[in-house]
Amino acid sequence: MNDLSNQTEDFSDIRDAVRSLCQGYPGEYWREKDRKREYPTEFVQALTDSGFLAVLIPEIYGGSELGIQEAAAILEEIHKSGCNGAACHAQMYIMGTLLRHGSEEQKKKYLPGIASGELRLQAFGVTEPGSGTDTTSIRTFAKREGDEYVVNGQKVWTSRAEHSDLMLLLARTTPKDEVTKRIGEEGKGFRYILDGMKAERILIGAECIGDSRWFIQKASEYAKDRKVFQRPIGQNQGIQFPIAKAYAQSEAADLMVRKAASLFDSGKPCGKEANMAKLLAADASWEAADVCLQTHGGFGFAEEYDIERKFRETRLYRIAPVSTNLILSYLAEHVLGLPRSF
Ligand SMILES: Cc1cc2nc3c(=O)[nH]c(=O)nc-3n(C[C@H](O)[C@H](O)[C@H](O)COP(=O)(O)OP(=O)(O)OC[C@H]3O[C@@H](n4cnc5c(N)ncnc54)[C@H](O)[C@@H]3O)c2cc1C
Repeated sequence: MNDLSNQTEDFSDIRDAVRSLCQGYPGEYWREKDRKREYPTEFVQALTDSGFLAVLIPEIYGGSELGIQEAAAILEEIHKSGCNGAACHAQMYIMGTLLRHGSEEQKKKYLPGIASGELRLQAFGVTEPGSGTDTTSIRTFAKREGDEYVVNGQKVWTSRAEHSDLMLLLARTTPKDEVTKRIGEEGKGFRYILDGMKAERILIGAECIGDSRWFIQKASEYAKDRKVFQRPIGQNQGIQFPIAKAYAQSEAADLMVRKAASLFDSGKPCGKEANMAKLLAADASWEAADVCLQTHGGFGFAEEYDIERKFRETRLYRIAPVSTNLILSYLAEHVLGLPRSF
């Protein structure tokens, strides 16, 4: 079948290399990890050894000094190959904050180890039991004591915390009732973390595009092969049209992911684009997942087809790291100037 991504010229060397690495981690590997709820250590190690997780790190610190666009291509290919970058994508998007706002001392101290794989920077602690979606209400507090910060608080849902040596942690330095502006300049930490969040939204958008392409490819192949009423099910427009629509939605979302990534790399504002990229790509991958499952009928639930696993994996991105509603609220109130609802 034709390459559904239709973009082999875009970082094609990187994409080819990622695809070839991913061939060593087929469906059986992910099914086993999923069944045992195990971390894909071997896969993450292979990505580290190949330098893919260090693409954003400057060359002087041992990385390849590429941009978010290349990082997005890597994560998209991982997902398009049926693998899952969620085990290690944080290292890339946290880098957005560390590279732009970390001190030279921090960079020298941490980046070489991260590039070589000796140090894992895989965790991003934002969500708290009491604040959830309302990030400006976090209670974890960092109190300055001499040269150090003493941190007290509670975080939940910090993915990969047990597989990470370092964590980017969101904490407040001013009690909430003393804050005058909710997205405050005080300490500048929130602004710094927003850069990380933009990178996170773009990269997760790229993963969703990869998932979407995987689902559309699977659905198209199956629709051609599976015969019911003595003809391929894909001959029925009731099967064809949803696949075609999911394809169009995915291609459109990809344009926004690319636009956001290119703005990010050129250092231009991209809050609106990064949020729309994540919103559209997560919706597109969910649509593609649903269509793929429907196309497979009952076999969509058979573990060995990998569809129900990918279906669960991609559904997450309409909730985390930021839910669809919160992106819509940001667009409505901060971009379109509608009255604030909370
Ligand atoms: C598998 C997984 C991995 C995660 N990894 C991380 C991680 O590594 N680091 C981290 O910090 N967090 C992580 N999270 C947390 C994730 O970011 C949050 O679950 C998410 O931000 C939503 O917060 P919540 O679950 O508290 O939902 P809530 O804030 O309780 O919201 C529940 C629902 O209500 C909606 N809602 C809330 N307020 C409004 C409103 N004003 N208007 C309209 N709708 C509203 C939300 O959109 C959501 O659908 C992870 C979550 C999961 C499930």
